[in-house]
Amino acid sequence: MIDTRIDSPPHPAVTRARPAVLDAGVPADRALLEELMALPADAVPQLLALANDVRERFCGSGVGVEVLFNAKKGGCSEDCNFCSQAARYASDVIPETLQTVESFRSAARDAHARGASEFCIVVAVRGPSERLLERVCESVRAIKAELPLHVAVSLGIMNDDHLVRLREAGADKVNHNLESSRRFFPSVCTTHTFEERLTTCRAVKAQGLELCCGGIIGMGETREDRIDFLLELQALEPEEVPVNFLNPRPGTPFGDRSTVEPIEALRFVALTRLAMPRALVRFAGGREVTLQGLQNLGMLSGASGLVLGNYLTTEGQPDDRDFRMLEELGFEVLA
Ligand code: SF4
Repeated sequence: MIDTRIDSPPHPAVTRARPAVLDAGVPADRALLEELMALPADAVPQLLALANDVRERFCGSGVGVEVLFNAKKGGCSEDCNFCSQAARYASDVIPETLQTVESFRSAARDAHARGASEFCIVVAVRGPSERLLERVCESVRAIKAELPLHVAVSLGIMNDDHLVRLREAGADKVNHNLESSRRFFPSVCTTHTFEERLTTCRAVKAQGLELCCGGIIGMGETREDRIDFLLELQALEPEEVPVNFLNPRPGTPFGDRSTVEPIEALRFVALTRLAMPRALVRFAGGREVTLQGLQNLGMLSGASGLVLGNYLTTEGQPDDRDFRMLEELGFEVLA
């Protein structure tokens, strides 16, 4: 169990972090992140409280809720070790063909009706083919013409031409995760490189699109990897950082890993907030299996956004439970 009472004397690292990040708005640097990563368990509630204050100051109490749409499930050529959509793993995902424009529109209507302000189109590919890109652009145009949704797309590795076409179709944001640190990335994926991921992320920013870039913790990376990962993200200045927790999928190489310790999951959410005080830090996949009854603490550790279940290949908890949690915590769901 995590003792969330703050009755221990202020820890010096938290005392140092408060004026720097909360008062001056300066993102935590490596030295500060290292100190906070090493905080003893009984001081972690102080860290969570600070991250919550930083979130309140720079992001307010509004929460952006997002729904993901898996527009082409499974059959991916890549070998990401956590992913049940990789064709090479004997997972329970049954590959599907690319959805029709009408299916995209119907999913967007459903997301809007569920209370989401953001709709993210996700396709399990290394990068978009011409046919796929055209289908996504046509769908984005149709959705933007009909619904007041922020539309994000996640289509893998992309170049400037892809991004210009998506921007001209009306896409607001592009998701492309770094997943982990540069050092650990080859233990996650060997069919493309960390540098290729960075190049796509930089191109997203250069083309004037919002960047959504985060990753997954609990894949076997060290605490140092987690800090390196946060600093790589910080340098990219993403508008949004989705924080996922490994939900080990049967049949994948990481299928037998344990879920991350709840205290480490919460610590990471808080460090993400301190590393990027103004970003939309989105509490995302794996939160239910990792935190279970402590998900409210995740939202109180600096998160300012939430992905509603499901998460492409795994279910989440029912929407009403998420909305009730947000209401009880005093968050305002953004329209
Ligand atoms: S994470 Fe993305 S690129 Fe990697 S195997 Fe899964 S769908 Fe493919």
